[in-house]
Parts: sequence; C-alpha cells; structure tokens
Amino acid sequence: AKEEGKNTYQFYTSDLNDISRKKMMMEKELFRALEQNELTLYYQPQCQVGELTLTGVEALVRWQHPEQGFISPGDFIPLAEETGLIVPLGEWVLRTACERHMQWRREGFGPVKMAVNLSVRQFKDERLVELVADALRESGMEAAYLELEITESIAMIDFDYVRAKLNQLKELGVSIAIDDFGTGYSSLSYLKKFSIDKLKIDQSFVRDLTTNEVNYSIVKAIIAMGQSLNVSLIAEGVEEEEHAHMLRELGCEHIQGYWFSRPLTAEQVGERFLKPQEV
Ligand code: C2E
Ligand code: CA
Ligand code: CA
Ligand code: CA
Repeated sequence: AKEEGKNTYQFYTSDLNDISRKKMMMEKELFRALEQNELTLYYQPQCQVGELTLTGVEALVRWQHPEQGFISPGDFIPLAEETGLIVPLGEWVLRTACERHMQWRREGFGPVKMAVNLSVRQFKDERLVELVADALRESGMEAAYLELEITESIAMIDFDYVRAKLNQLKELGVSIAIDDFGTGYSSLSYLKKFSIDKLKIDQSFVRDLTTNEVNYSIVKAIIAMGQSLNVSLIAEGVEEEEHAHMLRELGCEHIQGYWFSRPLTAEQVGERFLKPQEV
C-alpha cells in the first residue's frame, strides 16, 4: 500500500494481523474439523401451531472442538462463508441431513420433513443443483421431504441466475423457504417472481410480539403477505406459550422455538417426537 511509511499504517497492520491470524487458525481448525468428524447435526422440531404435532425438523450444525469444547455456528458459519469453506461444509450438512432422514426411516419411523440451511455462497456455487440431486439420489431420500432455507440476501445475486437456480431446484421436487424473513431487503414484488413455498418469520420479531406494537404489526403484515402469496408460514424463536397463541390467532400455521423444543440430537428426536411408520 502507498501509506507504508506512515505510523498509522503500522498500527493498523498489527491489529489486522492479529485478526487475520486468528481467522487463519480458525480456518485451519475448521478444515480439520470437517475431515475429522468433529461436526455434528442437531435437529430442531417444528410443529403445527394448533395441534402441536411435529411437521418437520431443521438441521443445525454444531462443532465439538477437542480442546475448546462446543463452538456455536454463529461463531464459525460467518468465517466459513468468508473463506469459502462453507461450500464443503454445507455439502457435508446436506448429505448428513438426507442420510439422517433415511436412517430414521430404516429405524421404522414415518418420514420427517428436513429443512437444511443454504448460505449465499453455496447458492452461487455452480454445482449446487447437482449436489442436491446427488445427496437425494445417494441417500434415497424423496425430494418432497427436503426443504432448503435461503435468506433474502440472495437478492444480491443476479436476478436471472437466482430464478434459474430456484426453478432447477424446484424441478428436483424440493421446497424452498425464505429464512429470517423480514430482516432483509426483498420486496413483495421480488418474491412474487420466484416460486417460494414458505416464509420463516425472523425470531427478532417474534421475541417481544406481545409487548412491542411495531413487531406485532410487522408479524401481522408478513402473515398477510404470506397468505396473499399463498405460501406457508412458520415463525421461529417461539419461546413463550403466549407467542404461540398470538401467532395462531394471526394465522401463522407453524412454529419453531424453545417453547416446543430446543434443537436435539437425532436419537432424542426419535425418542421424543417420531412415530412408527403406519403400515
Ligand atoms: P437460523 O437458521 O436462523 O437458525 C435458528 C437459530 O435460532 C438456531 O441457532 C436455533 O438454535 C436458534 N433458536 C431456535 N429456537 C430458538 C428460541 O426459541 N429462542 C432463541 N433465542 N433461539 C432459538 P444456531 O443453531 O445457533 O444457529 C445459528 C445460525 O447459524 C442459524 O440461524 C444459521 O444461520 C446458521 N447455521 C446453523 N447451521 C447451519 C448450516 O448447516 N448451514 C448454514 N449455512 N448455516 C447454518
Ligand atoms: Ca434457518
Ligand atoms: Ca432463521
Ligand atoms: Ca438467524
């Protein structure tokens, strides 16, 4: 850089080096974690808001580090996105989730809808559609049980590319949900141009639904929007019974959150929520 001679430059570089050194170490660690099976998936149940029956699960990645212990995805997913490691990591998540779906079936349970998070970086990856098709074929999972969660930030990608990819994914038979809905920039008119199956109302609006009038209005508007677009609705981060009741009143069909269940291991989901396949 041109400022090389200045004092400020040295000040900033040592700071930056510190940060980038940490990042590089974590990147290396994460790469190793992927290879050595330190990552695991938890599954958070989703339910119908009236009957409280299980309607699906969302796969959420966890990192069990041998020395540092448990590291939450909020701490490594952003780094994985920045470095591109999210592509192989996301591939592992997708394949593992599909295999889990089939494993539950082999254990005699009825089919469970499986939601998997896709980051923008994965969405941009040329091989995404092929990867999804592969994960389905190799596991034997029916496409109708796979739901891909994308965020409104895909709006940053070229419109025609997004539409083409979404159409290709839909052709495989999977469904598409917009995650963290309401926090991004997508408009109603933007969404209308895509074939979206579900809106996931972001937890930031749900948290104080009963006390914050602004959030109440936002949730109400999102539900009205969903109904007019004919897409299904799920609210996430539902921690209180009164939130569930209010969402039900407002016409939101599905909920996910600590109130119904925290994310669980595959075994716990089987024990607590899955029903034997009817014959
Ligand atoms: P997200 O997709 O919005 O997932 C929901 C997050 O909210 C999860 O955090 C979940 O444990 C948490 N949560 C669920 N119910 C409640 C509740 O009632 N109250 C509160 N306060 N929180 C609740 P988690 O598992 O820590 O994941 C954080 C984020 O990391 C996810 O947010 C998602 O953006 C990302 N992530 C997790 N797994 C994956 C993955 O496999 N791939 C990608 N690309 N991102 C992932
Ligand atoms: Ca999600
Ligand atoms: Ca979310
Ligand atoms: Ca989120």
